[in-house]
Amino acid sequence: MRGNQMEFEAVIGLEVHAQLTTQTKMFCSCSTKFGNPPNTQVCPVCMGLPGVLPVINKKAVEYALRLALALGCKINFVSVMARKNYFYPDLPKGYQISQYELPIAEGGAVEIEINGQKKKINLVRIHMEEDAGKLIHDEKQPYSYVDFNRAGVPLLEIVSKPEISSPEEAVAYLKTLRRIVRYLGICDGNMEEGSLRCDANVSVRPKGSTKFGTKVELKNMNSFKHVERALSYEIKRQIGLLLEGKEIIQETRLYDEATQTTHPMRGKEEAHDYCYFPDPDLIEIQLEEELIENVKTELPELPHVKKQRFLQTYGLTPYEVDILIEEKSLADFFEETVKLYNNPKAISNFMLTEVLRYLNRDGKDIYETNLTSQNLAQLLQLVEKGLISMTIAKQVFPEVYEKGIEPKKIIEERGLIQESSEDKLKSVCEEVLKENPKEVEKYKAGKKGIIGFFVGQVLKKTQGKANPKIVNKILTELLEK
Ligand code: ADP
Ligand code: ZN
Ligand code: MG
Repeated sequence: MRGNQMEFEAVIGLEVHAQLTTQTKMFCSCSTKFGNPPNTQVCPVCMGLPGVLPVINKKAVEYALRLALALGCKINFVSVMARKNYFYPDLPKGYQISQYELPIAEGGAVEIEINGQKKKINLVRIHMEEDAGKLIHDEKQPYSYVDFNRAGVPLLEIVSKPEISSPEEAVAYLKTLRRIVRYLGICDGNMEEGSLRCDANVSVRPKGSTKFGTKVELKNMNSFKHVERALSYEIKRQIGLLLEGKEIIQETRLYDEATQTTHPMRGKEEAHDYCYFPDPDLIEIQLEEELIENVKTELPELPHVKKQRFLQTYGLTPYEVDILIEEKSLADFFEETVKLYNNPKAISNFMLTEVLRYLNRDGKDIYETNLTSQNLAQLLQLVEKGLISMTIAKQVFPEVYEKGIEPKKIIEERGLIQESSEDKLKSVCEEVLKENPKEVEKYKAGKKGIIGFFVGQVLKKTQGKANPKIVNKILTELLEK
C-alpha cells in the first residue's frame, strides 16, 4: 500500500455552550450563583411544578444580542422558544426550553489567528436555552444525587459551521470566543466550573474531497487541553479505521482524560427524537430596533480591534500585546497608566513580569487589588528619574500592590533613594576591584563582559542602592586606567 497511501484531512464543527452571568435564571428569579449548597436556588418554575408560568429574563436576551452583534450575526427580530423533549433525571420538566426553528441570531463569524495567519470560522447560529440540573455520582452510594441549582440558568449555544481544520484551530476558536464573551461581560468563561462547555463534531475525508465524512460527536471536555487531545485522538482513530477499509459509525463519544482516548456513549440508533414544538407558555420574542441599537452602541472595543490599535499605538510586540489584551481589565489598567506616564514599553515590561506574577499568585483581577495606575506610574517614573534602581522598584512593589502605599513614601521612609554620587560610589568600586584581583586580570586579558560581575558586587555592598549606570562608568574608568 505504501506510495499509494491516501492523505486525510479533518473537518471539525463546534457547539459551544456559554453560561450567562445574569443574576437570575432564564425564566424565574432564582439566583444563578455558583457553588452554593445543592437545591438552595430553586422554585416551582425551575423545578417544573405543574401550573407555573415561565417569564423570560430580559437581561439574557440582551446578552445574546451583545454576542450576536459582536460576531456580526443576522438578528431575527422575531424568535421562538421551543420545547426540546427528552427524559433525564437532571431535567425536572421533562423538556428543555431552547430555540429550534427560529433562533435569535444566524450567521456571523469568529476570526481566529494562528502564528499571524488569520482565518474566519463562520457560524450557523446562536440560540438561547436553559441549562439542566447536575447529577452527582458518588461511587460509595448505590444511588446518585441531583442538584437543581443549575436548572434554568441561561445559556447561549454558539454553533459553528464545519470549517475548523485541526485541533489547534479548534482551540484557537475556543480561546477567541472565550475572550470575546469575557470582554462582553456576558460569561465568565470558566471551563472547569462548566460556564463554557464545548461539544466537538469531527469527521475525516480524503484531502481535496468536497464530500463530508461521517461525523462523531465528542463530549465531556472541560479544558482546552482536553479538546485538543480528544480531537487529535479521534482524528487518528477515524483515519485508522478508514485505512483498514472500515466504516465510521455516527455516534456520540466521551473523552476520558485518564487514558486520553474516547469511547462510545450512545449511537445513532438511540438518537433522540426531541419532538420540538413552540413552547405554548411563552410568547415569541419580539426585538425592537431601539433595543438592538442601544446594545450596539454599548458594545466595548472587541479584542481583535484592541489588538490592532495597541500594535499601532504603543510600539509593543504582538506577543506583548496578546498578553496585555487577554483580559480587558489589564488592557484598561495599562492605558490608564500610560496616560499618567507616557512610557508604554516600561509599563508593559513591568506589568507583564511583576504585576502579572502577583495577579496569578492571587488569582485576582487587577482592579480587585490595591494597585492603582497612579502608584504604578509613580514607581516607574522614580526609576526613570534615576531616583531608584529597578532592583529597588521590584523590592518595594509588593507593598505598593498589597497595601496601596505610595512608592515615594516607602522610598523616603526607608532611605532607598539611589546613590548616584560618583564620589561616594568610587570608593566602593575600588574596594570591589581590590577584593577580586583574579577577575580584574581576566578583564584586562580581554574578558570585558566580566564588568557585570563587578557591578553586581557594588550593588550588593550598597543594598541595591547604587546607580548601575554610574557604577558601570566608574568601573570602566578604573579598569581602563
Ligand atoms: P446534528 O443535526 O447532528 O446536530 P448539525 O448539522 O446540527 O448536526 O451540526 C451540528 C454541528 O456539527 C455543527 O457545529 C456542524 O458544524 C458540525 N458538523 C456537521 N457535519 C459535520 C461533519 N461532517 N464533520 C464535522 N462536523 C460536522
Ligand atoms: Zn427558579
Ligand atoms: Mg444540531
